Amino acid sequence: MRTRRIGARVLNAISVTGTVTGIEPVAAHLRRVRLEGDEVRGLTWTAGQQVRVHVSDLLDPHNWRRPRDILRTYSIWRYDGGLELCVLDHDTGGPGARWGRELQHGQPVTFGRPEGSFVLQPEAPYHVFAGEETAAVAFGAMLAALPADTPAYPLLEVGGPEDRLPLAREVPWLYRDGRPAAASAGLLEAARRLELPREPGAAYLAGEARTVQLLRRHFISERGWPRQAVHSKPFWAPGKRGLD
Ligand SMILES: Cc1cc2nc3c(=O)[nH]c(=O)nc-3n(C[C@H](O)[C@H](O)[C@H](O)COP(=O)(O)OP(=O)(O)OC[C@H]3O[C@@H](n4cnc5c(N)ncnc54)[C@H](O)[C@@H]3O)c2cc1C
Repeated sequence: MRTRRIGARVLNAISVTGTVTGIEPVAAHLRRVRLEGDEVRGLTWTAGQQVRVHVSDLLDPHNWRRPRDILRTYSIWRYDGGLELCVLDHDTGGPGARWGRELQHGQPVTFGRPEGSFVLQPEAPYHVFAGEETAAVAFGAMLAALPADTPAYPLLEVGGPEDRLPLAREVPWLYRDGRPAAASAGLLEAARRLELPREPGAAYLAGEARTVQLLRRHFISERGWPRQAVHSKPFWAPGKRGLD
């Protein structure tokens, strides 16, 4: 009991706890979760950053047997004093998907402060975004933060039209129509077809790990962009648990 009290104090110092005040579908398989509270109100963040959510109780020794199942990372969809995440309910259904499915209004949620360097490069002349459903959450925040006159080329592949998210810019959505998201030939082909200005911009590649790798190779090897112009962040991989 005493150990749990000390643990709770340490945890409070390094994390934030909010209360679920909203849960609603933002697309067919994606739930928007809103967290509010005194600790949530004071956060600072940059579009593209993420939080590490305690999807099971870190202080419960039963959960220590599966340490890889305690934390899952989610991009910040929106922050206005309340924090909004979008959680995918994927078919394999790991602890993150289960957590999102079982969340209730009024439930406390503990998470780490916003972190990460997968953010907009303000000096870039234009911005390319490529990925699938999970990447679309971070891209949604980044597109909303871009000045209206800054050119953006979003390339997003989702399961079908029902999986589209509401985004700040027009998106030429691509549909998998039953094909797996891993190593997506559809996204790679779309990236190859993309007509871009001659000079490199900034490319943001996120989502399934192998697709991110293929897209990264395309921008660096096929288009000859410098490595520092290509920002990639694998979010998940088939068969792997909790990639971050
Ligand atoms: C920086 C970062 C930002 C992220 N942002 C988001 C976000 O905004 N929204 C979001 O939903 N997720 C996001 N993720 C992914 C998220 O952290 C989890 O990996 C994801 O929710 C799956 O967790 P899980 O516990 O359900 O499955 P895990 O235990 O992690 O994985 C179990 C298995 O499920 C399958 N799987 C996992 N994810 C998917 C998927 N997306 N589609 C199909 N099959 C899958 C794989 O086969 C995997 O082996 C992000 C990850 C990172 C690193």
